[in-house]
Amino acid sequence: MGVACARELALRGAAVTVLERDRIGRGCSYGNAGWLTPSLASPLPNPAMLPKAMQWMFNPESPLYIQPRLDPSYLRWLAGFLLSTRKAKYERGTEALVELCRASVDLWEEVAKRAPGSFGFERHGLLAVYEKAESFEAARSSVDFVARRGIRWERWTADEVREREPAIVGKQVGGYFYPDDAHCEPYRAVTTLAAEARAAGVTFVEGAEVFGISGSGAGPRMLKTTRGDVKVDRLVVATGPWSEQLGTMLGVRLPVLGAKGYSLLLPRANPHPTRSIYLIERKVAVNPHADALRIAGTLEIVRNDFSINARRVDVILRGAKAMLNLGDSPVVRETWRGLRPCTPDGMPLIGRARGGGEVWLATGHQMTGLKTATGTGLLLAQLMSGETPRFDPEPFRADRY
Ligand SMILES: Cc1cc2nc3c(=O)[nH]c(=O)nc-3n(C[C@H](O)[C@H](O)[C@H](O)COP(=O)(O)OP(=O)(O)OC[C@H]3O[C@@H](n4cnc5c(N)ncnc54)[C@H](O)[C@@H]3O)c2cc1C
Repeated sequence: MGVACARELALRGAAVTVLERDRIGRGCSYGNAGWLTPSLASPLPNPAMLPKAMQWMFNPESPLYIQPRLDPSYLRWLAGFLLSTRKAKYERGTEALVELCRASVDLWEEVAKRAPGSFGFERHGLLAVYEKAESFEAARSSVDFVARRGIRWERWTADEVREREPAIVGKQVGGYFYPDDAHCEPYRAVTTLAAEARAAGVTFVEGAEVFGISGSGAGPRMLKTTRGDVKVDRLVVATGPWSEQLGTMLGVRLPVLGAKGYSLLLPRANPHPTRSIYLIERKVAVNPHADALRIAGTLEIVRNDFSINARRVDVILRGAKAMLNLGDSPVVRETWRGLRPCTPDGMPLIGRARGGGEVWLATGHQMTGLKTATGTGLLLAQLMSGETPRFDPEPFRADRY
């Protein structure tokens, strides 16, 4: 988010410095599933999830886990999350995210055209594979919903899935294919965008952690960083799952919580998938990189607990092995975990923060931060520059908490 916003602001003539605690692109954007899929762009609080959530809570291998904690701000977040699972709210959120995501994927495609081969961008579609007839049939209403928002889709029988995507070797009953979806290599996507930002004049300072902020209202702010003090006229907070801490420094409530997920990098499968695959019932995301296979999954609402749960990692691997030919004991090249930055209502915060000063937000993108990054950068820069925004900013209002 930080890189995308910085690039768009620099293109409008602003002098922009990105302060990064670690290294650019090493946060949640590093090892995500790399999907750029408008067909799957919806807020996390989903009415369909509620009936299963209680069951999942007590299953150590379930794809969703909500950590029990007695911390008041965590409980407040959870209450907001539960209240946001209303169908009408979910549908309004999905509509806005699909629009932001469609424009963002087009913008990513333009980046790929300017730097061919740099981050493995491919628009080969997404295949959602179903193993149970009931879930295949039940999916139809959500397929129709996104179709009404302009997402093209095809329904494939089990035979068509086997024929058109021979990488699927496990038993299945059919799939939905979304031909306009894309995928890429996430870390290289960030570094490619960062190179463009640098060329547009952005200064990157790595290893600079912001640990204190003074100043108020529309006036300048002084940032205390581990690499010295920095005075800024305008501040964009794009610190992902760590945004709540920045909010505390600014005296603004930013209820952004980390929802942990894992990804594993494996050797190429045989046959290797030609497109992204979603193993629906197992909630496993598959992304075929040119020289590797990335599989990802689980969502653990845990605040900022960064530990690795070996059992859940193993469930992802077992799930992929059941459906793809990965060999008997595939060598895992990398095991990664990341914290998705989640607001209670599952919608990103894009725009001016509460208080009316020069503090702006681009955070809380939960499961959709790569696929909506370029559009978010554009929207934020348009709002900050007083241009007419390309998207309706209302669903993303940053002062709603
Ligand atoms: C397993 C998994 C799979 C996913 N798959 C997808 C997918 O396929 N498609 C998709 O669109 N999204 C996906 N996501 C979600 C996506 O990864 C996130 O939404 C996105 O990375 C969030 O980007 P961000 O810029 O907000 O946060 P980050 O990438 O985490 O960046 C925040 C940055 O802020 C820095 N920072 C924090 N605090 C400070 C400070 N005090 N001072 C200075 N710097 C600071 C951090 O070091 C970090 O680099 C997935 C996530 C996970 C975990």
